Amino acid sequence: MERKPKYKYDIIICDICEGMGTQSHEEMTCYHKREYDYTYSLCWKCEGSGMLKKKVTIEYEPHKTNIHAVETKPYTPRKF
Ligand SMILES: [Zn+2]
Repeated sequence: MERKPKYKYDIIICDICEGMGTQSHEEMTCYHKREYDYTYSLCWKCEGSGMLKKKVTIEYEPHKTNIHAVETKPYTPRKF
């Protein structure tokens, strides 16, 4: 008997921005004074939510269970 793979979802903290939702970029505005400008942009991976939804498949085989991460998408909590 063959069992179909099952899916589950994990909510994880974004590994790019560490949950901040933004990424900062340093730009040197004056080379001689060594002044920097910081610009912030939304994190490309989580799209600003700081969290990711990871889809995982679980395959059951007779002697082992295989777990694969299938895809990781931005996770946006529902707004109330
Ligand atoms: Zn992020």
